Amino acid sequence: MKILVIGSGGREHALVWKLAQSPHVTQMWCAPGNAGISSECLTKNGAPVGCVNLAAEDLPRLLAFAQEKQVDLTVVGPDNPLALGIVDLFQQHGLKIWGVNRKAAQFESSKVFSQKFMEKYGIPTAAAGTFSEAAAAKRFCATLGGKCVVKADGLALGKGVLICANQAEAEKAVDEIMIGKAFGAAGANVVIQEYLEGIEVSLHALCDGKTAKIFPTSQDHKRALDGDLGLNTGGMGTYSPTPFLSDTQLADVAARVLEPFMRGCVAEGIDYRGLLYPGVILTKSGPKILEFNARFGDPETQVYLTRLENDLVELLDASVSGTLDAIELNWSPRASVCVIMASGGYPGNYPKGKIITGLDAANRLPHTKVFHAGTALQDGQIVTNGGRVLGVTAGGADVRAAQAAAYAAVAEIHFEGAQFRRDIAAKAML
Ligand code: AMP
Repeated sequence: MKILVIGSGGREHALVWKLAQSPHVTQMWCAPGNAGISSECLTKNGAPVGCVNLAAEDLPRLLAFAQEKQVDLTVVGPDNPLALGIVDLFQQHGLKIWGVNRKAAQFESSKVFSQKFMEKYGIPTAAAGTFSEAAAAKRFCATLGGKCVVKADGLALGKGVLICANQAEAEKAVDEIMIGKAFGAAGANVVIQEYLEGIEVSLHALCDGKTAKIFPTSQDHKRALDGDLGLNTGGMGTYSPTPFLSDTQLADVAARVLEPFMRGCVAEGIDYRGLLYPGVILTKSGPKILEFNARFGDPETQVYLTRLENDLVELLDASVSGTLDAIELNWSPRASVCVIMASGGYPGNYPKGKIITGLDAANRLPHTKVFHAGTALQDGQIVTNGGRVLGVTAGGADVRAAQAAAYAAVAEIHFEGAQFRRDIAAKAML
């Protein structure tokens, strides 16, 4: 099988690494990929993975490439091409592609859509209202005593969520988003949720239009600094499994979230084939969904795929073909921890082009894999080329052992200004 993976981050490196192990794969490309992806080879025949210089949003050229190379399966990593309708486009041209179609991508691209869907189909979520008018939005904040979360409806690079402690802050947030257009058109409508307290976990489920198969739990670390301080980032590290939901509790959440989700999709004419990634908060009154993402998480993917024992090509193929019910997901009982090494200054401004050393030494450590995100090849050397640079991922008998292994690998790697959290997975051991 010939496979094309779309994207360039750590998530896509993990996808390529796992897909490359499948005996079904004879040739693979990634568009646009990164320096780590271009050094992967296929298990079946040793063929190198080719990086193609096409942007993930350049739908017409990606289509032309897939047609020219007669790609058998395209796998989409990031949310942007999904929201732009890459799946619909490829399908119109008779090409097999894994990822959600444009209608299903709305769960991520519109928080108003998701909130209304959750309420209609009884999916546990925060008490909330959706608004297109600032005065009504502010009145609703007052009914929550001002302690609320104001969310811009559309995609806002993860920045469109403002947490407010009182009515004055809530009114300022509504003004910034709806009047000041801080996030442009994404803020024409808002969702306002009650503020919830609890531990946050990431859920993932692979869906095929009828069946949803839940993954074990994982936990992301969104803030830049230790102790969950500093600015929000794309994610500074993950681990799996978490101690916060037992298998029985996870099955219960799946029944309360995934079952009505799939039923609602069928009722609304949404053919949900792809990955569903709900953000969940475990409150005193039970788990509540904060948001839906419609693709693999980054860096959740790095810990999931290092634990997954199934052939990923077979899983994604079943997700596209609607045959997931016949497949059981198998996970290693071992834990996995991913520590993100970022450029100095991230998530603000940061330099690029810093030489990275120690990658081979880190990768030689047992049960360790360094996934690349923002890296590039420059004059034969691997250099930094983005905010999040590497996802240093290691396995161990339990989370503590995996954490020690991940940080041992981090200690081998150097680049000027490297920043990383030192407490990834610490919450699992409290
Ligand atoms: P979202 O993109 O909607 O998941 O929001 C981003 C982050 O804001 C979440 O990961 C939470 O940390 C926080 N957040 C969102 N909604 C709420 C809420 N209703 N209560 C408390 N925190 C929230």
